[in-house]
Amino acid sequence: MATNDSYGGYEQERFADKVHPRFECPICFKIFKDPVQCPNEHYFCRTCIERYLLTSDKCPECRCHLTKETLQDIARFVTKMLEDLDIRCVNANRGCPEIVKLQFLQRHEENCGYSPTPCRNEGCDEVLNKNEIEEHEIERCEFRLIDCEECKMMLVFRYRRSHSCFLKKEIDDLTKRLEMFQKMFQKQMKLNRDEMVTHVEEQMRLSRNEMTFLTTETTERCNFLTGKIKI
Ligand SMILES: [Zn+2]
Ligand SMILES: [Zn+2]
Ligand SMILES: [Zn+2]
Ligand SMILES: [Zn+2]
Ligand SMILES: [Zn+2]
Repeated sequence: MATNDSYGGYEQERFADKVHPRFECPICFKIFKDPVQCPNEHYFCRTCIERYLLTSDKCPECRCHLTKETLQDIARFVTKMLEDLDIRCVNANRGCPEIVKLQFLQRHEENCGYSPTPCRNEGCDEVLNKNEIEEHEIERCEFRLIDCEECKMMLVFRYRRSHSCFLKKEIDDLTKRLEMFQKMFQKQMKLNRDEMVTHVEEQMRLSRNEMTFLTTETTERCNFLTGKIKI
């Protein structure tokens, strides 16, 4: 159930080392999966030969009489040689780094955290790795169910915006932001006014100083002219 390619043998590329051609099925040209044999020791994947025998009653190699019932188990030592081959997990292209003995492949693949797993939330058609699905379904999925904080009603996350409580909250938030902006604006205006007052006061102070200076200078000049000051 865990293997994607339930029909035919294993791809040669999945093995850690190149597998000898005598382990290749003459029907699918892949490495034997669950092989069986004709009475003359021609080997085939079980699924390959069983499908072949749906429309034939002969071995495709030696033409001997052959049916699903007369297929035989292969020699134990060949099974052992196959079981000992190192093979990559079927989910290698999804990120699984495991390379296991063929005899442990099925066990690994049934529990592999990288198995493609469809999201169970209604409406979602995403397929994720098994070890990511829980986080997706609960925290990330657009179709996850959430509670409305106001009325406690269950909502689909994706459609939450059309729920009345949510709309109200959005309007409240917008209103608050608008009020904040208005306050800031008023404060800025007041600040500008205050700055202007300070500026004018400063100018007036400077002018006053200038006037005092000029008055003093003028008086001194006048006094000098009228001879009140002797050089
Ligand atoms: Zn085959
Ligand atoms: Zn044969
Ligand atoms: Zn795996
Ligand atoms: Zn989902
Ligand atoms: Zn609500």
